[in-house]
Amino acid sequence: MQNLTILGSTGSIGVNTLDVVARHPQRFRIVALTAKSRTDVLLRQCKQFTPQFAVLTDAEAAKAFEQSVKEAGLSTRVLCGVEALEKVARLPQVDTVMAAIVGIAGLRPTLAAAGSGKKVLLANKESLVTAGGLFMDTVRSHGATLLPIDSEHNAVFQSLPRDFDGNLARCGVRRILLTASGGPFRTLPLDQFEGITPDQACAHPNWVMGRKISVDSATMMNKGLEVIEAHWLFGAPPQSIEVVVHPESIVHSMVAYVDGSVIAQLGNPDMRTPIAHALAYPERITNGVDILDLTAAGTLHFEKPDWGRFPCLALAFEALRAGNGAATVLNAANEVAVERFLEQKLKYLDIPHLIEAVLTTVHASAAHSLDDVLALDHEAREQAWQWGRPSNTAIGGRVAGTIAVVVQS
Ligand code: NAD
Ligand code: MG
Repeated sequence: MQNLTILGSTGSIGVNTLDVVARHPQRFRIVALTAKSRTDVLLRQCKQFTPQFAVLTDAEAAKAFEQSVKEAGLSTRVLCGVEALEKVARLPQVDTVMAAIVGIAGLRPTLAAAGSGKKVLLANKESLVTAGGLFMDTVRSHGATLLPIDSEHNAVFQSLPRDFDGNLARCGVRRILLTASGGPFRTLPLDQFEGITPDQACAHPNWVMGRKISVDSATMMNKGLEVIEAHWLFGAPPQSIEVVVHPESIVHSMVAYVDGSVIAQLGNPDMRTPIAHALAYPERITNGVDILDLTAAGTLHFEKPDWGRFPCLALAFEALRAGNGAATVLNAANEVAVERFLEQKLKYLDIPHLIEAVLTTVHASAAHSLDDVLALDHEAREQAWQWGRPSNTAIGGRVAGTIAVVVQS
């Protein structure tokens, strides 16, 4: 029996995780569930999985929730706050922690899970983007097991040798090829970018996800964050990570070896595949996902990313190459830009402009501790909230110019 804490159980990854867990009651037991504010979904989950603990970050919501739990006759203890998230990530009776909170809000509890030597199923890519060195050191020094949930990284992991020890060269790996769908605006005429709305940006052609990652997929910042994630997870230098646009989202990523072999993981675009893989690793379990019908998929397409259309991708590569705290600043600026865009307070086209401006303004010193990371994140966020100027009408010009240099370097 594997005992689980699910951080962010009410989100898209959390709900998919519980879907897989429910299919294997003899294998998995839920010890703790956590959410920010969606008490209706959390209550339903508590009734179904009867966890020992339920955590809400909001104190008011937690008080009301405690009453609902009592009325439902459940013995679940309701806790609140960030410390409670860390507590349920560290519980001695917990073997595995699914890290599925969105944004840097997930960093502290995910780090707490790694620091307690848990099996960490990592969906929260922002933990690695903002604190990659610190996070990987914590995993190593506390004997934690890190398994990637992001479909691309899970595919890379499945395409690497079983005894992969963090040294790609020793395994004969030449490149990691991260696939990207290109999102909803891959072919949209550039003159229509000006009026892009949050709902349009969140309408992903292949995946159903939370709103933040959906916007990231539309701008391709998601792929940029994933490049940084791959760097830390697999010890891959930036020049050995390549992004390949693959609109069908059937090939979830690939590993190219020095002998010309390319090994890929394929499947229907359904997050229950990487979730089940990581939950049961190294075994395989059923998860309700249909077997891939390649004849129905027909033709698969692959193309190079259009850097002018997706400046956020280049900004992420730039931040990775810059090192120190640049990725922390990039992430903070992006989180604020996406939030402002979703609140319709920032134009879609201004997302990369805001991020570039914050990257230029904030001194991205090396962050050695969690406090350093959080301080840098805070400073970058302040700048990002202050940033404001009339929107540009074209995405080319200065930003695209920077990108051309980055891509060729
Ligand atoms: P979501 O928005 O659907 O869910 C986020 C969860 O985090 C919710 O349970 C919410 O209550 C909780 N949460 C949000 N803000 C919080 C805060 N400040 N404090 C505590 N809890 C908070 O997001 P999602 O799509 O499930 O994504 C979760 C993570 O997984 C992200 O880091 C995302 O990049 C990554 N991921 C998601 C997918 C996907 O298919 N959805 C795929 C790959 C990676
Ligand atoms: Mg992904």
